[in-house]
Amino acid sequence: MARWSKISSRGNVEDRRSLGPVAIGGISLTGVALMFLMNYLNGGTVESGLNEVLNTVLQQQTQTQQVADDTSEFAGEDPYEEFASTVLGSNNEAWLNEFDEMDEFYEEPRLVLFRQSTQSACGVASSQVGPHYCPADKTIYLDETFFDELTSRFGAQGGDVAQAYVISHEVGHHVQNLLGDLGRLSLGDNETSVAIELQADCYAGVWANSLIDDDVFEPGEIREAMDAAAAVGDDRIQEKIQGYSNPETFTHGSSEEREAWFTKGYDTGEAEVCDTI
Ligand SMILES: [Zn+2]
Repeated sequence: MARWSKISSRGNVEDRRSLGPVAIGGISLTGVALMFLMNYLNGGTVESGLNEVLNTVLQQQTQTQQVADDTSEFAGEDPYEEFASTVLGSNNEAWLNEFDEMDEFYEEPRLVLFRQSTQSACGVASSQVGPHYCPADKTIYLDETFFDELTSRFGAQGGDVAQAYVISHEVGHHVQNLLGDLGRLSLGDNETSVAIELQADCYAGVWANSLIDDDVFEPGEIREAMDAAAAVGDDRIQEKIQGYSNPETFTHGSSEEREAWFTKGYDTGEAEVCDTI
């Protein structure tokens, strides 16, 4: 465990985990996936590489409400909510400084914790697409049970630092949104998509660098984050799904690229080096 208690800042986290999934009426899961595809094409960013796998998993489950009747585990600020808020708060601090240097205004993002599905300004946010950022409401949507999937399906080591990396990658998309770079996704080509994703990885590295002086990470813990970055590379995901990878269809970058850009941000701590676009 990293020493999160060394961080005093907190981000804006809303806990919807006890609410249960939103009613999606008669729309099938395919319909939901289609809606996400539309959001994606309209400039929303989803971690779409995981979509197919998670879709399969979801199809094996019934759509009955899975949230436990006993919602007391989410009452008050539970440990996960505190963790997410701390990671978000430390991102805010890092980006407030970076934006000050750029003479830009940094608006803090929100983070919604949910189970299965919830309403977002980009449509229904569903667990099946993994953690994602909706630019329309400047909010990160996270069902943290996704991380069990990351470990069991993609062989990521898991752990708190890996999860913090994923949240910070999503904050990276928020930064791109504020700086006007996310709009370029509407171009829709894979090359632009990869550039956007690798830049978000690099931004996550810049965040990790900002915590070095506070001695938050144990030696070797940054490795967890790099493993997580590599585990969600398009090549690894495609190999798991279809047995081979096709670089022309990459939308997030290869494992090697994702790790390399995270490292570049981490080594320098400078947002300017994240010039993937
Ligand atoms: Zn992303």
